[in-house]
Amino acid sequence: MAAQILIVEDEPAIQDLITVNLMHAGHSVRCASDAELAHQMLKDWMPDLLLLDWMLPGITGLEFTRLLRSEARTRDVPIILLSARDAERDKIAGLEVGADDYITKPFSARELLARVAVILRRRIPQVSAGVVRAGDLVLDPSARTVFCNGRKVSLGSTEFRLLHFLITHMDRVYSRSQLIHHVWGADFDGNDRTVDVHISRLRNALEPGGMSCLIRTVRGSGYSLTLIG
Ligand code: CA
Repeated sequence: MAAQILIVEDEPAIQDLITVNLMHAGHSVRCASDAELAHQMLKDWMPDLLLLDWMLPGITGLEFTRLLRSEARTRDVPIILLSARDAERDKIAGLEVGADDYITKPFSARELLARVAVILRRRIPQVSAGVVRAGDLVLDPSARTVFCNGRKVSLGSTEFRLLHFLITHMDRVYSRSQLIHHVWGADFDGNDRTVDVHISRLRNALEPGGMSCLIRTVRGSGYSLTLIG
């Protein structure tokens, strides 16, 4: 389960310690020493998770969490707050502004990695390397294979990511702009029509296995992957 993680922490020793442990666990890590810098980085890069120190120079981690939750682009990014403040009211304040979890300093590497894994599994299941299924469609993220009724489906990398996202978020409807955000991220260089083109290629690839109807067009809203007809 390799994720891209942004650490926002002003103490170099703690920043290093967290970085080493996360990289050892297979994650890619970038660091910022304050919220302003992190906010700048988020303009053209979207991590899978933020580890955010509460006590930062300038904007605090708590205020930054509130800011990220108020902006459409970062509203859903998973956030774990790190803090030496272990009062119950501080934890509640952190969770109330929208943090997914709260880790009290000092923490062990094991606790940090365990909590990161829990949040990643819960919030972004497509990052986990487990095999996912929808009926007779089986997608294996680590092998990068898709089987449809037992026959192998060959997909381009964008169609693969699109299918992986939809299959891990079944029965939910996503607009084209939401799909752009989740599947393409900041690398997107196209328009809504681009999404339609890739959806169409994905349906064509699933057609021989009789599964193209899995991807439903929800008029005026977007697309969804669902098993029920
Ligand atoms: Ca600090």
